[in-house]
Amino acid sequence: MVSRVIPVDPFDLVIFGATGDLARRKILPGLFHRFAVGQMPADARIIGAARSAMAEDAFREQMRATLTEFAPDLSTQTDVLDGFLAKISYVCVDATGEQGWTELGEKLRNGVTRAFYLSVSPALFGALAANLNAHGIATPDSRLVVEKPFGHDLASAKALNADLRHSFEEHQIYRIDHYLGKETVQNLMALRFANSLWEPLWNSTHVDHVQITVAERLGVEGRGEYYDRSGAMRDMVQNHLMQLLCLTAMEPPSRLHPNAVRDEKVKVIEALEPVPQADIIRGQYRDRDGSGSYRDHAGDAKSNTESFVALKVNIGNWRWAGTPFYLRTGKKLRARTSEIVVMFRDPPHMIFPKMEGRRGNALIIRLQPDEGITLRTTIKEPGPGGMRLAEVTLDMTFADALGEQAQAQDAYERLIMDVIRGDQTLFMRGDEVEAAWAWADPIISGWEEARLAPAPYDPGSSGPEDALMLLHRDGRRWREID
Ligand code: NAP
Repeated sequence: MVSRVIPVDPFDLVIFGATGDLARRKILPGLFHRFAVGQMPADARIIGAARSAMAEDAFREQMRATLTEFAPDLSTQTDVLDGFLAKISYVCVDATGEQGWTELGEKLRNGVTRAFYLSVSPALFGALAANLNAHGIATPDSRLVVEKPFGHDLASAKALNADLRHSFEEHQIYRIDHYLGKETVQNLMALRFANSLWEPLWNSTHVDHVQITVAERLGVEGRGEYYDRSGAMRDMVQNHLMQLLCLTAMEPPSRLHPNAVRDEKVKVIEALEPVPQADIIRGQYRDRDGSGSYRDHAGDAKSNTESFVALKVNIGNWRWAGTPFYLRTGKKLRARTSEIVVMFRDPPHMIFPKMEGRRGNALIIRLQPDEGITLRTTIKEPGPGGMRLAEVTLDMTFADALGEQAQAQDAYERLIMDVIRGDQTLFMRGDEVEAAWAWADPIISGWEEARLAPAPYDPGSSGPEDALMLLHRDGRRWREID
């Protein structure tokens, strides 16, 4: 299949925090890839901004080293790399002070799309947004991109939204959840709403339950102190898993318009029922000899922050009543995998002999690794041994089916181009973020008030035993993490 690249309009993109980790690892390599495939118009400009005083040439050399490290294949094409670096300039700006704003304003052109990417601590979002406004740099149609975390709870999320909306309108704000930029996540919408096959089955009459798993093999080494202030519920469930749940459960929007899609997602979040403590399992990895435990990595020998959480979530609406969604995410698990499993109900009457170990029909949507879709079906076991059944999978790994075109574009590449195009579909709206916190807050405060300690689990396992029991007690079982 031939890849189509549709160039975007000319733009000035200012990256605040251009010397930081995220800009170096994701944003600039993402832009470099888009440049290399020809999506960036000749008069696109990228302006790095950070606190450090630095000459433009020095910044470009820093970026050359960065791209050589984080986009090694492309960087060997010196002419491509030089062409990209020629688009980059630098200005030293202090988010909270006066330094650099006039110079930044002078660098920006009229008549092109103007976007500001705040790749800095959320504590600086309000000041940056206000300064962009106060110095006349933000125009009514310029775009503001912000990175998670969008608050720590409902109150802080509201405060952050208020800060941003003080200087920018909601239609200008692009809240990045990079999960939404993944090919398979977007494919969820295509799968559901561009095919007539699934939608008639996509409800509690036919779906027994849904499992959403985001498992990581790594622990919190290196960022334990940061992670310890959030935990799996805040770091993953409230945002990433919630987005996956919304896209799986939402009603078809009336049209593919950012607000039409986001309205339907908000309705799902608002339909979530409160989760009783009995349906929440928290875990913390503990090494048997105590050397590689979560608490060592977090630097707090008494930490009760969860590195794993599993929940049974009920959606109180017409489509999903009676079909639970089981969510789980954790660190130091058996494998790195993210998937959505839609488990269909058994046929109402089985005419065949009972099949040992039958798991039933499932649609498995894999986000990583090997993005793709698997359909588990039951067939007759081949051979003359009578009418015995077997389960087989119909597999579609995007890389096999689509070849080069499916080669993982980083989510950031797509999302930044969507910002330039002015398409907010894959970005979280302020009310969506607040609704997700309104659901998560009582869950978190419930275990905090009860002072519940997370259950220990072995690194390399599937999480605590209790998480297995969460499904066993309902006569179900998790799909293996592999
Ligand atoms: P970082 O490595 O600490 O970089 C922070 C950047 O902010 C630096 O470029 C720094 O410039 C700049 N900065 C700090 N104070 C400033 C000020 N007063 N005025 C102007 N610039 C200032 O942070 P990061 O890891 O890239 O994270 C950036 C944002 O992305 C955060 O909101 C984070 O939560 C979010 N995020 C990061 C990741 C990730 O993988 N890193 C993933 C998801 C979300 P100097 O170097 O010149 O001081």
